[in-house]
Amino acid sequence: MHLKSYKTAIALGGNIGDTTAYFKFACDALSSGGLDSIVISSEYHTKPVDCPPGSADFVNAALTGVWHKSPEELLELCQKIEIDAGRPVVRGVNVPRTLDLDIIIFDDLKIDLPQLRVPHPRFHQRAFVLEPLAEIAPDWNVPGFQLTVAQLLKKL
Ligand code: AMP
Repeated sequence: MHLKSYKTAIALGGNIGDTTAYFKFACDALSSGGLDSIVISSEYHTKPVDCPPGSADFVNAALTGVWHKSPEELLELCQKIEIDAGRPVVRGVNVPRTLDLDIIIFDDLKIDLPQLRVPHPRFHQRAFVLEPLAEIAPDWNVPGFQLTVAQLLKKL
């Protein structure tokens, strides 16, 4: 049977607790959940953007991997991992969090579902996503932009 393979990029972030440990937990859980060939960037320490006043600084990173199922199934896995990492199911917008996983790129697809928009709608304006991603996937084309990740970062 032919197994489909989709190249995907995921942004990681957190500003509560031991973020390095949460990122390791996320990589292990993504791998157990079926994400192959994971490559993760280094960690970037960033100032909160669009967050409530007094929010702690963030740690951000990006990872790439190869997924074999649907984008919705990858989102479900990411959301389960966030909750397993102690993130409340019901939460405010951009409130402090132990672990945030956002699907940034899913192969060459443009996805516009109520629960999932890919490429992630705001990532091209966010250095804290583009910088780590440019470290590991500078030449990836970003669907809908006709630009690579490195070119988008340069435009910021
Ligand atoms: P946040 O609290 O910032 O993690 O946002 C989570 C919400 O964004 C969830 O309801 C997701 O269904 C939705 N969402 C939309 N597009 C994406 C994406 N590309 N990656 C992750 N979550 C997404």
